Amino acid sequence: MKRRLYDESHEAFRETFRRFIEDEILGHYEEWQKQGQVPREIYQRAGAQGFLCPTAAEKWGGAEADFRFAAIVAEELYFHSVPGVFFPLHSDIVFPYLEKFCNQAQLAKWAPGCVRGEHILAIAMTEPDAGSDLAALRTKAELKNNQYILNGTKTFISNGQIADLFVVAARTSFDPAKPHRGISLFVIESDRPGFRRGRNLPKIGFHAQDTSELAFEDCVIPKENLLGAEGEGWRYLMENLQQERLVLAIGAAAAADSCVQMTRDYVKERQVFGQPLANQQHTRFTLAECATQVQLAYSFLDDLIPRHLAGEKLMGEVSMAKYWISDTQSSVADRCLQLFGGYGYMTEYPISRQYVDARVQRIYGGANEIMKELIARELLGKD
Ligand SMILES: Cc1cc2nc3c(=O)[nH]c(=O)nc-3n(C[C@H](O)[C@H](O)[C@H](O)COP(=O)(O)OP(=O)(O)OC[C@H]3O[C@@H](n4cnc5c(N)ncnc54)[C@H](O)[C@@H]3O)c2cc1C
Repeated sequence: MKRRLYDESHEAFRETFRRFIEDEILGHYEEWQKQGQVPREIYQRAGAQGFLCPTAAEKWGGAEADFRFAAIVAEELYFHSVPGVFFPLHSDIVFPYLEKFCNQAQLAKWAPGCVRGEHILAIAMTEPDAGSDLAALRTKAELKNNQYILNGTKTFISNGQIADLFVVAARTSFDPAKPHRGISLFVIESDRPGFRRGRNLPKIGFHAQDTSELAFEDCVIPKENLLGAEGEGWRYLMENLQQERLVLAIGAAAAADSCVQMTRDYVKERQVFGQPLANQQHTRFTLAECATQVQLAYSFLDDLIPRHLAGEKLMGEVSMAKYWISDTQSSVADRCLQLFGGYGYMTEYPISRQYVDARVQRIYGGANEIMKELIARELLGKD
């Protein structure tokens, strides 16, 4: 599909990033899947070529490019079935917390390393008993002698094994009547005493991504590592979730597109009952339906992305995009895999990876049921 969203400079950037994927990622990805993580160096290589934090300010080494360049990075990684290289998490989900809420001294300390890929980023919100109900989080940060002492555990943290800097949500106070209040955000370096990475959790897909438990045991954090103002963490999280969910929807559309394209090529080659599989009406209708869904997803995103760029508040519509496009991604991957027959079940065929990697998209970044709840709240009011 011709996208009207991108101009020549975006498409030139896409070409360069595609070459980077071909040269630096595709040949190694199977190995990285076995290792359960990508090598840290891939971040440095990407940083050296300007593929990380493209929207960052020039004074931190960024290109001050618009968000469409970030969208292209996400599209290409998902399109090439290598989403475990989670640059969008680093650049578009976590880095904006630093950009928006750090003071100049904090930015000078951390931002250039993020743009260069020397400081890999992660965000730690979820806890064993606080996922969808994030306000139930219990990790505690107590201020003593001008330092915060953190205690608690986090789980399911992407980049948990390889990250150097974690944006961590912790409680600095608790009022049972207002659980959203009293949450603060901290930037925590991985070498702080009392911080421990837990297991790299085994998963059904997304194998090149490291997803970890984290523990804080009397972890001492200087007061300068507080992000923004104490107690404002919930507001900061809500502000940034729009972009997080939009990026996941962008990846979902590109992944679904990739499924359709690889299946189209396959069914033209595969012979059944003396003719190409592409001649069966069921095959043709399945691909026609999936291609239509991809087109609708892109059209929706092409409306949302410029409005997001213009600073519009789009929580309801972005929630629609996140839930509908990730549901579509899963269903398209499933239907396309079916057309590959037994080959689709074999891991050497990328459609199998698209199928397993799609599943998490309906869970993280806010489960799709939570997205529907947010949409319903805009439609109907809160109760
Ligand atoms: C691979 C992976 C990577 C992740 N990366 C990160 C990360 O980097 N940082 C981070 O902080 N977190 C991360 N997460 C956590 C993720 O955001 C949570 O798993 C998600 O928010 C759901 O929380 P939960 O798992 O505790 O499920 P629960 O909250 O226990 O919910 C379980 C299910 O119940 C249903 N449900 C829950 N509440 C409602 C409701 N109000 N109405 C209707 N249905 C409901 C939904 O179907 C939901 O899927 C990651 C998760 C995975 C699997």
